[in-house]
Amino acid sequence: MAVFFDSHCHMMNLSHPNLTAMIKRTFSEAMPKKLIRYIEKAVALPLVVKILICFLLFLPLLVILLIVLVVGLIAAVLFLLFPSARRVLTGILKEQVANTMNLLAVMETDIGDCLIQLEEELRNKFETRRGVILYGDCEEKVYDKIVLTPLIMDFGLKNYKESKSPYKVRWKPIVAQVEDLFLGIRDYYLYRESYIKSTGTPVPPLFEIHPFMGINTRNYRLKSFPFIDGPPSLLEDLLATNFRDFADDTTPEMRYRNLSQRDRSKFDGNIKSIGSHDFIGIKVYPPLGFNPWPEKIEEGYTDDGELKREREKVEYLYNFCIERNIPITAHCSDGGFLVDQKYREFASPFKWAKVLEQQKYNKLRLNLAHFGGVERDDWRERIAEFLLIYDNVYTDISYQGVDEKIYSKLKLFLDRFGADERKRLIRKIIFGSDFMINLMNIEKYSTYLEYFAETEALTLVEKELLCHTNAMKFLYLA
Ligand SMILES: [Zn+2]
Repeated sequence: MAVFFDSHCHMMNLSHPNLTAMIKRTFSEAMPKKLIRYIEKAVALPLVVKILICFLLFLPLLVILLIVLVVGLIAAVLFLLFPSARRVLTGILKEQVANTMNLLAVMETDIGDCLIQLEEELRNKFETRRGVILYGDCEEKVYDKIVLTPLIMDFGLKNYKESKSPYKVRWKPIVAQVEDLFLGIRDYYLYRESYIKSTGTPVPPLFEIHPFMGINTRNYRLKSFPFIDGPPSLLEDLLATNFRDFADDTTPEMRYRNLSQRDRSKFDGNIKSIGSHDFIGIKVYPPLGFNPWPEKIEEGYTDDGELKREREKVEYLYNFCIERNIPITAHCSDGGFLVDQKYREFASPFKWAKVLEQQKYNKLRLNLAHFGGVERDDWRERIAEFLLIYDNVYTDISYQGVDEKIYSKLKLFLDRFGADERKRLIRKIIFGSDFMINLMNIEKYSTYLEYFAETEALTLVEKELLCHTNAMKFLYLA
């Protein structure tokens, strides 16, 4: 059986992300800081001065208003007269609205139903009963199983105090997200047969699902530390429960067997029944405040004591993961769910360099996701250096494939390296979709896979590396 890996995707519903924090940041980002300062100054002026300014502004404003009105009228006439202009304008608008509605629908429906719809869609696209078909070099390869590793994100926030609303998002317990996801996976297995029609023998499930646990060490105490806001929870306990038996997996084969043996259709809805091998790895999300290497008080700590405690927690996490071969995926691009401006520094590969340069952590099994993002060449270069230096560091190309041209760009990037380095680099890149976030720029999951399946920028052998071999290695399954 050939297995296709989508090692970077998300399964969440509308209650999971911290929408208020994102909206707040989007607005403060959109408005230049200078403008905000002027507005604040203007508000503080005495009433007489304000009235005087309004009066002075009134006359030019009237002129501007007239100009806008005339331009608007001309545009409306053009719009009515020329159908082609009309089609272009309404087309763009419609596409944007449709993508947003599509993303909302997928987040609003049950996670189980979302998975069933994905299977229905793929089976229609790539001929019923087969799975995904990749093409290249006048050949094709059929993958009849898809492993999805949905990444949970720890949205719990400690900086809610900055909010001026009477009610605040004080904690977002990861428990609810974990339970929703595992219920969704269970329902996928329980109810898919009523939707996936087959004549004769039933079609086996297309998906095998192994989630990544989302952790922000900042939201936990390690142990015996003083109480901080939110529900008390201990990092040590969390890791010990969810990755209890990972130390016994002495070979990748054992890891794969133990993960596959978990019967996900039997989940009873209680987080207490989730145990070892229900998660395959750990996801950290620096733009939400996870700091890979706390080193300065200015990074948002109150004193040396707090800084020391935060460092201790990340070091505990890295040691724990290295000892048990647990993969960590870290969001590593300039965009994403940005909650605080300074958190961008945490996401940077230059920050991760501080971790990897420590001899005790250079074996960390780490995926620096998104290959640094399309806009940051310096980040991409730095990650490429890591891929060549550190055996267990990988990157993924999730989200980027919403644009089919990205694969030719990737080829160009790789071709700059000498034959030997190129060969080593392509063994460190992993396929990922970033579904459902990618729906902001693409209509369907199957279209994302289709772009990858059909691109001529990669050979069939290279495609197999990205969607199978490299993913297996990173996940400690081969
Ligand atoms: Zn993602």
